[in-house]
Amino acid sequence: MSTPFDPAAIVAEFVDAVSPFDPGPAAVVAVLSLRTARGEAAFRLSDHVLRAMCRALLSYRDPDDRGTCAGCGSRHLDENLHCRACGRLHGILGEVIARHARRVAADGSGPPTGDPA
Ligand SMILES: [Zn+2]
Repeated sequence: MSTPFDPAAIVAEFVDAVSPFDPGPAAVVAVLSLRTARGEAAFRLSDHVLRAMCRALLSYRDPDDRGTCAGCGSRHLDENLHCRACGRLHGILGEVIARHARRVAADGSGPPTGDPA
């Protein structure tokens, strides 16, 4: 369960943090309206603040984003870099397993059976 937060308060905090660094006259170039269960808010944004907000959004990466599966292109890799769609394992362990599987397939002998002679 995620922690409750107030999006309008966070936007206001962002605007307050960035506004002092606005190099030019703070002409309003955009109005951002925000309506949530907590209410409505409107933010009059200068070009400087709007650009900062856009850069912040573009640099965001979802904590669950662990890349794209090299096998099937799925974006859903679990915390062990295991693709939930096709089962391929990524990362160093996945590469070691894939290399071993290629070597076993190439020599044609298959995996050892463990059957003592
Ligand atoms: Zn996959």
